[in-house]
Amino acid sequence: MNWEPWSGCYMISDGCSHCYFYGPHAKRYGQNTITKTDKFDWPIRKKANGEYNIKGDKILATCFATDFFLPEADEWRKEVWAMIKQRQDIDFLILTKRIDRFMESLPDDWEDGYDNVNIGCTVETQAIADYRLPLFLSYPMKRKFISCSPMLEAIDLTPYLDGVDHVTVSGESGKEARECNYDWILSIREQCVKANVTFWFKSTGTFFKRDGVVEKINPFKQTTLAKTLNINILDGKKLF
Ligand code: SF4
Repeated sequence: MNWEPWSGCYMISDGCSHCYFYGPHAKRYGQNTITKTDKFDWPIRKKANGEYNIKGDKILATCFATDFFLPEADEWRKEVWAMIKQRQDIDFLILTKRIDRFMESLPDDWEDGYDNVNIGCTVETQAIADYRLPLFLSYPMKRKFISCSPMLEAIDLTPYLDGVDHVTVSGESGKEARECNYDWILSIREQCVKANVTFWFKSTGTFFKRDGVVEKINPFKQTTLAKTLNINILDGKKLF
């Protein structure tokens, strides 16, 4: 289940070049103006009988079609933190390419983190990993995961896996997507095995290279093929 309290975004990183939502050729949302959505207060909205619209024991993927730490959302985020705190019965999964805005974006009572918030730091290349992950690991948060998405080259996460709960990897999607090499995916998996961290190969992306051959994968088959390769190590963990 997704919750998008605001929409709009703009590029910040190598992985944004072909952003499905806001890249140069995005048709679907194709705008960079950051605006509140009509779902802004969705987690705390109630029905006539006083019950919440969203039942508890759910995972809410939050801002997966924008970025939670956009500066344009600084004022709105204060209200969003309050809603997140109010719904302790929901796990909020927050994925960002702007982890360097984390400390200035926290509520006053954050301390070492809210129990129901799981923060995901996206890294697409080694240079980005080497910039973002030391920051990410230094910040106070109770639950954290790394998302290599879209994975654009081989990445060594070994120095950064201590204290991380989980790693997710995906190739890039779209007509102009950059190639994803299965060897990179297997290498991350191996790093996760050694560090005892769970691992999920979420999607092959459009151009998937395996055994030296690049195959074009239909958008509807990218997650299925990743799953079929049967390399996930989830230990019963359910992230999404
Ligand atoms: S941060 Fe995410 S949503 Fe924003 S432009 Fe980049 S890929 Fe798209």
